[in-house]
Amino acid sequence: MHKFSTTSGKVLWYDVTDNRISLWSPLQQKKTCPIINFSSPNTLEADKITMFTIEMTQQCNLRCTYCCYSGTYNDRRIHNNKHISIDTLNSIIKFIEKHHDKTADEITICFYGGEALLVKDKIDWTIQRLLDVLGQQVRFSLSTNGLALTEDVIDWICSYPKFVVNVTIDGDKIMHDKHRKTLSGKGSYDIILKNLELFKTKFPDEYNNRIRFLATVYSWKDVLELDKVWDGQSVLRGIYPVHISHIIPDFSDKSRTYDTWDDKNIFYHEAFKAYMKGQKGILSNCFKKLTDIIARRSYHHLSSNLRIKTCYQSLFSCFINVDGDLYACEKFCGEFSIGNVSDGIDQIRAYRQLERFTARKNNHCSTCWAQRFCRMCMTSLNYKDEEIKLMCNMERDTIDLALRYFCEQKDWERSQKINK
Ligand code: SF4
Ligand code: SF4
Repeated sequence: MHKFSTTSGKVLWYDVTDNRISLWSPLQQKKTCPIINFSSPNTLEADKITMFTIEMTQQCNLRCTYCCYSGTYNDRRIHNNKHISIDTLNSIIKFIEKHHDKTADEITICFYGGEALLVKDKIDWTIQRLLDVLGQQVRFSLSTNGLALTEDVIDWICSYPKFVVNVTIDGDKIMHDKHRKTLSGKGSYDIILKNLELFKTKFPDEYNNRIRFLATVYSWKDVLELDKVWDGQSVLRGIYPVHISHIIPDFSDKSRTYDTWDDKNIFYHEAFKAYMKGQKGILSNCFKKLTDIIARRSYHHLSSNLRIKTCYQSLFSCFINVDGDLYACEKFCGEFSIGNVSDGIDQIRAYRQLERFTARKNNHCSTCWAQRFCRMCMTSLNYKDEEIKLMCNMERDTIDLALRYFCEQKDWERSQKINK
């Protein structure tokens, strides 16, 4: 049960039991959140995977200040010279052959690092083998910082028909170079932009079809900046980031600050203005993503006994590290491995993690008003209990704003219809 308001001062009420929103009244205030008892899942399926992400190397040619592999994050590996071996790649191919979804239209193989292009020859070797095994079903994706996107590499990428490239760009030169530095500590923007320009000039159609951008930010204020500068570069113009990630929380770093409800509200207020003006781009995309959290809800009644459903129940993606260890995704690390490519999925380990997650859900989420929208998943097991409480507050702030702006959007759409 959650009382919230719109900017215009309308006071509203969200009821977690039926997932509905209504005008607030003092009578509703007496209703309390039901207590939900979560039980652990008892199934695990790993034969319908459609996305395999392979860590090709643990080395990188950049040293981004916020990198989770910089050595400042708990439980994360540090950059090192470990590259994947051909033996491991052979085992990975056998694993993919066995566990991919045989009925899917497409199976995606993502090459990940560090900087995956440091072992380009091994990527090529893997592609050849997977084309033999999966044929037309397979498509490839590469995550790169763009520093090694030389002419040879661009030609090589374009020689494969189904090969997309995700490049991380953090805005303009000032924003990007502040964090994304080379080994010698210089900014990387100029080299990356030059590489992208070459790609665009040589293969203009392929560039539009294959290049996708990712951006990393500290705060929502950075996203406002990102929006201002993005179209200033011809190679970026009109191709907006498919994903903007916030730097993962690091509660051991006492100098780190996190966006408050007010910070987020300022951002979404601007984003809503862009959305109402019909602008295409970063702000409207962020606004849509926020309100979709609410728009996509279902109205079924919340049961007081719920069996948890996680990505382990029907694993659609899987991260394989340089040693062949398996994780549900690249956000997991260390002890959260669920097996390895030689021995397959270790059910005992996977169920143990599910039990830990269920215990945490019963501890924290049983009476939480935001539980039907909350996006915190199994990867929250990476954090300690007291850290989780801080992350819960941040998540509830976002859900509160999602409710607020979803209702404002509906009011605005209604007023638009009336004016017509
Ligand atoms: S490019 Fe990626 S892996 Fe390399 S230092 Fe930057 S964030 Fe880390
Ligand atoms: S915000 Fe926290 S307590 Fe609430 S549902 Fe999400 S994880 Fe659970």
